[in-house]
Amino acid sequence: MTGPDAGFCGRCGAALAGRPATVCPACGYQHYLNARPTASLLVVDDAGRFLALRRAIDPMAGHWEVPGGFCDGFEHPRDAAAREGREELGCEVQIKDFIGMYVGTYEFQNELLPVLDCFYFASLDPAAIRLDPAEATELTWFDLAKPPKMAFSTMDSALVDATRSLLSTK
Ligand SMILES: [Zn+2]
Repeated sequence: MTGPDAGFCGRCGAALAGRPATVCPACGYQHYLNARPTASLLVVDDAGRFLALRRAIDPMAGHWEVPGGFCDGFEHPRDAAAREGREELGCEVQIKDFIGMYVGTYEFQNELLPVLDCFYFASLDPAAIRLDPAEATELTWFDLAKPPKMAFSTMDSALVDATRSLLSTK
């Protein structure tokens, strides 16, 4: 884990003595490194399969993921999940039960950032899906009981918990 590389105060520009968490020696501004929230959807069909997308972009281009992305500013993860679903799948999605949240890492702009990945069950009309080619190159449905290795370990963890959750409600 490295976090952002910037070694200067974001408020006054003075050099920092170390990585966050640290206090600017010039102006006293407190710098923290916190996990950034993301929101993702797990769409499960009646046959117990879940919707997976093949990532078009790095990090982990070409690997399977579930739809999702970063929360904006003060956006609630549930709202972010609905928005990301609409953007990536091109159709309306209904957000259902919360699955769980998991701390992971995300490589972005040559920095390794901590992320807090939040997962929700969701439903949609599969016939209405229109993939955004900038985000995903193909879609498929995998058996929830036998998922492939996903692009991010938090997705592997969420799939395990989602399977357990569905089994316990049957
Ligand atoms: Zn400062």
